[in-house]
Amino acid sequence: MTDCLFCKIVAGEIPANKVYEDDDFLGFHDIAPKADTHLLLIPKKHIVNLNDWQPEDQALLGKLMLTIPKLAKQENLEGYRTITNTGAKGGQEVFHIHFHILGGSKLPGF
Ligand code: AMP
Ligand code: ZN
Repeated sequence: MTDCLFCKIVAGEIPANKVYEDDDFLGFHDIAPKADTHLLLIPKKHIVNLNDWQPEDQALLGKLMLTIPKLAKQENLEGYRTITNTGAKGGQEVFHIHFHILGGSKLPGF
């Protein structure tokens, strides 16, 4: 996707404060943190949101769910909140699926 902010971060065309990278995922600090620690974990593959996952993405989705606690442990988060917004009416602003990982003492309500 040429016109996607997070694809541009994956491609290195836009800088990000990266904290995690493997073949399939990228983790970086949210540019406007809403908690002491506010990370985003994204698949490198352009997937719009939860409604866009396909059956062939099942392994990738499973790996993502294993990568979230791995990243949280790496960042020394004892507890954290994981959020993904789906669709504009679900609060999604960037249409490349991402999982917010929020931790620290100032967790926002929901
Ligand atoms: P959402 O509302 O779930 O789509 O969340 C999009 C998130 O992306 C927001 O929390 C933004 O602060 C964050 N964001 C937008 N642009 C960037 C960027 N260039 N680098 C890091 N995070 C960003
Ligand atoms: Zn994208």
